[in-house]
Amino acid sequence: MIIVLKPDISEEQIRHVEERIKNLGLKPVISKGAERTIIGVIGEEDKIRLQPLEAIEGVEKVMPILKPYKLASRDFKKESSVIDVGGVKIGGKEVVVIAGPCSVENLKSLEEVAKKVKASGARMLRGGAFKPRTSPYSFQGLGEEGLKYLNEVGRKTGLPVVTETMDARQVPLIDKYADAFQIGARNMQNFDLLKEVGRTKKPVLLKRGMSATVKELLMSAEYIMSEGNLNVILCERGIRTFENATRNTLDLSAVSVIKELSHLPVVVDPSHATGKWSLVAPMAKAAVAAGCDGLLIEVHMNPEEAFSDGAQSLKPDTFDELMKSLKRISAVVDRSI
Ligand code: PEP
Ligand code: MN
Repeated sequence: MIIVLKPDISEEQIRHVEERIKNLGLKPVISKGAERTIIGVIGEEDKIRLQPLEAIEGVEKVMPILKPYKLASRDFKKESSVIDVGGVKIGGKEVVVIAGPCSVENLKSLEEVAKKVKASGARMLRGGAFKPRTSPYSFQGLGEEGLKYLNEVGRKTGLPVVTETMDARQVPLIDKYADAFQIGARNMQNFDLLKEVGRTKKPVLLKRGMSATVKELLMSAEYIMSEGNLNVILCERGIRTFENATRNTLDLSAVSVIKELSHLPVVVDPSHATGKWSLVAPMAKAAVAAGCDGLLIEVHMNPEEAFSDGAQSLKPDTFDELMKSLKRISAVVDRSI
């Protein structure tokens, strides 16, 4: 259920509405838009349906949201959300490119690659310190040491950083060092983890599970948002299909589908979607043309020697070339990079 408030409602009246909702055993979540304030009500819809809340001064209307995801739905918020990650805005006119290595390997190469991608126009730095590897014998990441390097390089270059949290117990640690949490594909339905990041205020980059539907992705966003953190950025990173010419199948239509269903920004990861560096540029270009709000791209100083995902990592020069054409494509679709 959403409660649409009148534009001239006072703070005191808003508090009164919130109190009424809480007294019914429900949870109010406030969204202050440019024109109006809306209160999302989480809990049993029936309890509120029977209440004459429209009688309260300052309340314009009370409307049910028929979708199973409420706060993530466009019914809750008509205008697209713009999420601020350490000063970089995702979901506005600019298509935000987030680049960096798959894993943080050492301070020197992280700093080198960060400077390179920044010079090419990337606005955020990525890098994993805790790695979800298919094999327990593969490199698992540098842990806290990696987080320290990310923090240091991020501050030095002025690039906000995003890094994966694999477990609810890692949340306070990652909160200390990163500007945004990444929830990986394998953890998209780790509900305890989703609730834990939902209790922070930091933006969350939520990746689509490899066999998850768009609806399931939005339900996972709802888990985070229902805890009070509305700063969710969704990420299409390819799904499992019968096709095995690529690592995953990039579901580009998901960008447009999500934009219709939700107000949340959508980022595309052409690196994990394809698994092959030569396919990253064409899919990145297609994603910008399709209307994504950002890209997550793996770049490595020397992919041949990367500890993880070398085959899908771009060299800085190739990334630079790509950025040049993305700038041109973004202008055509009335965006900027
Ligand atoms: C990553 O971005 O580092 C990653 C592991 O991706 P995914 O969770 O999409 O596989
Ligand atoms: Mn990777």
